[in-house]
Amino acid sequence: MKTLLLVIICLTVFSHVIAQQYKYIDSNKVMRLRDYQKKIADSPDYQLVEIKKLVPNIVLDIRYATRNNFMHKAMYKLAKAYVRLPVAKALKEVEDELNKQGLGLKIFDAYRPYAVTVSFYELVKDTVFVASPRRGSRHNRGCAIDLTIINLKTGQDLDMPTPFDSFSVKAADNYPNLSKAKIANREMLKTVMEAHGFKINKSEWWHYDYNGYSNFPVMDIAFEELN
Ligand SMILES: [Zn+2]
Repeated sequence: MKTLLLVIICLTVFSHVIAQQYKYIDSNKVMRLRDYQKKIADSPDYQLVEIKKLVPNIVLDIRYATRNNFMHKAMYKLAKAYVRLPVAKALKEVEDELNKQGLGLKIFDAYRPYAVTVSFYELVKDTVFVASPRRGSRHNRGCAIDLTIINLKTGQDLDMPTPFDSFSVKAADNYPNLSKAKIANREMLKTVMEAHGFKINKSEWWHYDYNGYSNFPVMDIAFEELN
């Protein structure tokens, strides 16, 4: 009897936790591990692949795996960058093109589990710089990337309009009152990304969406599960 009671309590708590997590969105719209595993068996493009596997020389600075982010705490247990297979292939083309000029990409964030988007929203309560949990982020679809350009010789970031995640009007894709160098660097990133199937976010110079993002669902699979 005691065991039965314990099972009932555990199930109630568990279903409450799940309901809380999906209080902003229909849970059928969020793909979880089991459905993902089924899907990738016949649709390889759905695979979330580690960018490093396809683009070994890309530099990672995964801010949400550190305390150096606007949440001031680590949101990811692993400092990894995953995107859907076609997105990784497109990034490889961008990296190759930049490498010819002695430059390369540095990734701040890529695929982000839906639960993390909910945590961001609950802290910020704003949907200009963080995605609405009602539709999820394109990061949740494995089709958005936050990045900058580095000089391969020095390892330094190019001079961009603002730091990553600055939440400033100066981060807008067309903000004009900046030095010539900042504008030139922002435009160089935009040109190379747009040539390979990405579109810049209007409020954030560092954020790009892959053009085919609507073909992929919002996902809630932690990095440890993908690993
Ligand atoms: Zn982003």
